[in-house]
Amino acid sequence: VFISFEGIDGSGKSTQARLLAEHLRGLGHQIVLTREPGGSPGAEEIRRLVLEGDPNRWSAETEILLFTAARRDHLERTITPALEAGKTVICDRFADSTRMYQGLSRGDLRAVVDKLHALMIKQEPDLTILIDMDPGTGLSRALSRGTGEERFESFGESLQQKMRQGFLDLAAEFNERFTTIDGNREIDVVASAVQQIVAERFP
Ligand code: C5P
Repeated sequence: VFISFEGIDGSGKSTQARLLAEHLRGLGHQIVLTREPGGSPGAEEIRRLVLEGDPNRWSAETEILLFTAARRDHLERTITPALEAGKTVICDRFADSTRMYQGLSRGDLRAVVDKLHALMIKQEPDLTILIDMDPGTGLSRALSRGTGEERFESFGESLQQKMRQGFLDLAAEFNERFTTIDGNREIDVVASAVQQIVAERFP
């Protein structure tokens, strides 16, 4: 089973991915908890190339190629072997983040993202959990965290708003695999909602 978490920066999806992994491990499942960009040694190198340093180093098109290369490596080295071994993969962001961030925030490059996906990735999660979050709250959380990946701090609230709406639109577009959860609640309340959805989908 392949489960991804999506949402705007500061939505709490990384925390929820970790809590779900702990919960399922407690039930005796074999879990691989991973993330994008990154998730394999090569993809983590590409993550550094893209997220650290000058934010204008790469064009939007080159960035899509780098994210797709990272995802391909992540699939080959981490995700596919785990799924073939019968493990459950929980991934903090996957292709939907590229559909959103590269496909929407920097010009309408969604068609390019989709073509490359069809060519080099193909894989979709069985379940995608969108942690929906008030953009203002998400932004202040993300900024206060200070990850050192400052390039996205210039996003501002209006772009966060656009991203939030974009994720909701994606959830409607891929409504068979997406579930949207209200992330504006206590961490453990959100975690229980996540557990319930996973239990219902994969009895
Ligand atoms: O999810 P995480 O905080 O690790 O993401 C790191 C940064 O990379 C975030 O600011 C996110 O907005 C950005 N990102 C991106 N394009 C992607 C995935 C993440 O711009 N495809």
